[in-house]
Amino acid sequence: MTVRKLPPDTIERIAAGEVVTRPASVVRELVENSLDAGATRIDVAVDGDGTERIRVVDDGRGMSEADAELAVEHHTTSKLGSSADVERVDTLGFRGEALPSIAAVATLDVTTNDGGARGTRLVVADGETSIRAAGRAVGTTVEVRDLFHNRPARRKSLASAKAEFGRVSDVVTRYALVRPDVRVSLSHDGREVFATTGSGRYEDAILGVYDRVVAGRSTTFDYQTTAELDGRDRPIRAEGLLVYPSITRAAKEHVYVAVNGRSVRDAGVRRATLAGYGSLLPSGRYPVAVVSVSLPPGAVDANVHPAKDEVAFVDADAVEAAVESAVADALTTADLRRSAEVAVDLDSSLEAVEGDPRFADVTVIGQYRGSYLLCEADEDLLVIDQHAAHERINYERLRDALAGEAVGSRPVDPPATVSLSPAEAAAVDDNRDALSRLGFEVTAFGGGTYRIEGVPAPLGRAADASALRDAIDALRSGEAPDDAREELLKDLACHPSLKAGDRLDDETAATLVERLGACERPYACPHGRPTILSFGEETFVRGFEREHRRLG
Ligand code: ADP
Ligand code: MG
Repeated sequence: MTVRKLPPDTIERIAAGEVVTRPASVVRELVENSLDAGATRIDVAVDGDGTERIRVVDDGRGMSEADAELAVEHHTTSKLGSSADVERVDTLGFRGEALPSIAAVATLDVTTNDGGARGTRLVVADGETSIRAAGRAVGTTVEVRDLFHNRPARRKSLASAKAEFGRVSDVVTRYALVRPDVRVSLSHDGREVFATTGSGRYEDAILGVYDRVVAGRSTTFDYQTTAELDGRDRPIRAEGLLVYPSITRAAKEHVYVAVNGRSVRDAGVRRATLAGYGSLLPSGRYPVAVVSVSLPPGAVDANVHPAKDEVAFVDADAVEAAVESAVADALTTADLRRSAEVAVDLDSSLEAVEGDPRFADVTVIGQYRGSYLLCEADEDLLVIDQHAAHERINYERLRDALAGEAVGSRPVDPPATVSLSPAEAAAVDDNRDALSRLGFEVTAFGGGTYRIEGVPAPLGRAADASALRDAIDALRSGEAPDDAREELLKDLACHPSLKAGDRLDDETAATLVERLGACERPYACPHGRPTILSFGEETFVRGFEREHRRLG
């Protein structure tokens, strides 16, 4: 074998394979180009699974005829001057690969005007480029048709139309949220799925994408600090929106991260965001949040990921510390942190029970704040979190019930309606059997609206209709079906469980303790939080300074 230079069309295929892997990656490149062109408005329209047609219309600065011709050539970009610039890019694109890669696997139809008397229309199909004059206001329309028509294997590897559109929707959603200053809309098969206003306010963007309830329970933040990079103090800014922890999701994808205006999936920033919420989040639950980080260009490298989905920070620790402080500070002013701090102190001063607390000897002696059962057990005082305990009981019963058969369902009358995002809707359609085995009866109502006609009623108490959303998140995020089921069981166990503030009569309280004792793993709720705290008498001896007195 001899080493040969690859023929140009092979190089083209390799490049196309890297940048353009599915309809959503085309949409991402086109939206990023529109943002780089300074658009204040971007309308995305997709037909079917996106291979039929993707259209992105913007009101950005447009291209001249000569620029348009160059733009579809390989390695042509208006965004880098010299090679040194690669390290300091502040645009979303810079490789000059997207348009030619798309043209290699589809028909690319660009109509653009940079403010001249007339615009330009350029069509690339099967390697042939045609150019003619066309009327258009300033801006650019890119239409991509017959995607992967010459890549049957790629086409075959695509998922259902709903699932592919779900990914497109994720991409557009992410940019709509991290760029509230741009008016973004998304349509599917001629129907508008969502639209934001471009007002620049994160609250407005989240209202466009989520709903009034989520938008209503949120706070915005804007935090600035500095960190030493290369021996100089450089600014770090984190801004965005935090939905209060009374609304949580089972999937972490609802934390949206941007770095220098680029939507990325950065595990570190996401972790720092969760850390900022701290103990306000129940374990295993995630917040809805938008976190946009800005740094000097030299402090971050965007050129580390083929799809530019990740970045590398020069000092990731400094960025994460800034994000955590930004989030924690913002939530402090929301008056939520104070109660959490009490909870943290309690946690550290008390030890969770381990081993056998001899449940048979446990006597309930009272209830504290409608939430905790106080029990005497030999020498110890036990405090049982009634909600966590009930969750554990429900979870184990559900799990046992499900091992053999489907969970019972109770009709919802009148049926509840939920409006689902395209990605959630795709998950419902792909998991019909699993959902009905879990007790959900769901029918499509059209327009992203679904009707919930039945909910799981595993222990006589019916789950809340909102449990469906958690079930969907679990099914979407679970890698193996078993994981998804596990997550779902935990959430289902939670919904019909006793809430803090439910008064229990003596008999119910005793039954709860007895049933907890019969559980396989009574000491933690399904999310891993302790169910029982134990105080030995020495805690009180110390607390009341009896030791001193005895000594003195
Ligand atoms: P890159 O974004 O990495 O520069 P692309 O292949 O995505 O590479 O685009 C090539 C060039 O075409 C860009 O540098 C830009 O000059 C021009 N271009 C692409 N899309 C648009 C648009 N929507 N508006 C204005 N110019 C555009
Ligand atoms: Mg680009």
